[in-house]
Amino acid sequence: MTYQTVNPFNNELVKTYPDATDEDLENALARGHDLYKTWRKQEGPGDRPAQLRQVAKLFRQNEDALAANLTLDMGKLVGEARAEVELCADIADYFADHAEELLAPVPLDNPAGKAYYIKQATGIVFMVEPWNFPYYQIMRVFAPNFILGNPMILKHASNVPGSAVAFQETVTEAGAPEGSLTNLFVNYDQVDRAIADPRVSGVALTGSERGGASVAKSAGANLKKSSMELGGNDVFIVLDDADWDLLKKVAPGARLTNAGQVCTSSKRFIVTENRYDDFVSLIVDAFSHAVLGDPSNPETTLAPMCMVSARDNLAKQVEKAVAGGAKVVYGNKPYDSPGAFFTPTVLTDIDRDNPVYNQEMFGPVASIYKVANEDEAIELANDSSYGLGGVVFSSDTEHADALARRIETGMTFINGGWVTMPELPFGGIKNSGYGRELYSLGFDTFANEHLIFQHKN
Ligand code: NAP
Repeated sequence: MTYQTVNPFNNELVKTYPDATDEDLENALARGHDLYKTWRKQEGPGDRPAQLRQVAKLFRQNEDALAANLTLDMGKLVGEARAEVELCADIADYFADHAEELLAPVPLDNPAGKAYYIKQATGIVFMVEPWNFPYYQIMRVFAPNFILGNPMILKHASNVPGSAVAFQETVTEAGAPEGSLTNLFVNYDQVDRAIADPRVSGVALTGSERGGASVAKSAGANLKKSSMELGGNDVFIVLDDADWDLLKKVAPGARLTNAGQVCTSSKRFIVTENRYDDFVSLIVDAFSHAVLGDPSNPETTLAPMCMVSARDNLAKQVEKAVAGGAKVVYGNKPYDSPGAFFTPTVLTDIDRDNPVYNQEMFGPVASIYKVANEDEAIELANDSSYGLGGVVFSSDTEHADALARRIETGMTFINGGWVTMPELPFGGIKNSGYGRELYSLGFDTFANEHLIFQHKN
C-alpha cells in the first residue's frame, strides 16, 4: 500500500509518505485506550467542547492553506475546497454547542422504579474514509465521537495523505489530548487487526460497496458495531410542473459538483416525456459551458477527477454503456492533458439490460431517462440496489413531498439539489449502507445507551 499525493491536474508525484508499522498501530491503540479510560472517569465532556470549538476556529483561520491541500491531493476546485473547510468548522461548532443536550440523561417513565439512560463512550472508534471530501468525511465521525469521549484512529484513502496529516495537525494544535485522533498510513491487514483488537469498539467506513463489505465482514466477525456510508445512484426526478428557471440553476451542479464524485450526486435524471427533450437540451447546454482546467484557478468550473485510474475506470463504464445501447448526446471526447480530466458527458437510452443500469458512475456523466408518468418515475427510481439520496422537482410542494416519501432512500431533497449540514442526518439504505452520520443520530452511533434503574422498594 502506498500513500502518496499525485496532483490530479498534471499527474505529477508530489510526495510519498512512509507506511505505518505494526508498532505504530500498537502505540496508537495503547494511547487511544489510555485516553478512553481517562475520559471515562470524568463526568461530562470536560474541556472537549472548548477544544472542538478551537478546531472549528482553526479550520476557519487556516481556510486557504487547508483548502489548498484538498486541491493538491484530489483536485478539488478552490471554491469547493474552501466550502468544505467551512462546512467542517460548522460541524465542529454544532457538536460543541449541542454537547450538553446530547449527553443529558434521558428519563424513562415506568411503573417499577426510577430509570434513565445516559450516553457514554465505548472505546476507540476506527474510521476508514474516502478521498472525495477528505476533511468532511473525517469530521462527520470525529466531532460527535470526540464529544462523547471515544478516541479515534483514522485510515484515510491512500491518495489523500496530505489532507489526513493536516486534519490531525489541526486537532493537535487545538489542544485536544494526544490520542484523540491518530492518523495512520496502515494497510488493509492492519485495519482488520485493529478491528479485531478488544480496545476498538467500532468501525465507521465511508467508501465503496467493495471496501464496505470487507470492513463490515471484519466488524461482524468480531461483533463490533459498524456504520457504512457507501455509494449511490441517486435520482433527480423532473415532473411536468417543475420550475424551469430553478432547474437551470440547480440540475447541472447536482451532477458536476466535485467533478461528479459525490455519493449523493444526481446520477440518474428521470424526466416526464413532456419535458424530456427540453431537459436534455438544458443539461447539454450547461455541460457544454463547463470550463475544465487548473482547479486552483477560480475561473475553472470543472475539476479533474481524483486520479488518472479513476478517470480510466469511468471511461470503461461509458464504453460499456455505449456498447450496451446507450447514446452519447454530449461529451465523451478525449481531453488533451496529462491530468485526470474527463469531459462532461450526457448519456440517454440506457435500458434495464445495459451493464451500467445498476452501476454508480463516479464522475461527470449524467444519465437521462424518459418516463410516461410519475408512477413510472418512482418505479425506475426504486429499481436500484442503492438507496442513498434523491431529488424531486415539482411546483406543487405538497405533491412533491408525498412523492418523496415513495422513494426508497435515506434522504430526499425537494426543489433543490442534495445538501448536507450538521443539523441533518446523512445516510442510506440497501447497498448504500446503514447507520447515520451528523445530527443527534450520528452522535448515537458508537454510544453506549447505559440504563440506570433504581428499584422502588
Ligand atoms: P473505497 O475504495 O472503498 O475506499 C474508501 C476507503 O476504504 C479508503 O480509505 C480505502 O483505502 C479503504 N478500503 C477499501 N477497501 C478496504 C479494505 N478491504 N480494507 C480496509 N480498507 C479498505 O471507495 P472509493 O471508491 O475510493 O470512494 C468512493 C466511494 O465512496 C463511492 O462509491 C462513493 O459513492 C462512496 N461515498 C459514500 C459516501 C456516503 O456518505 N454514503 C460519501 C462519500 C463517498 P485505500 O484508499 O487505501 O484503498
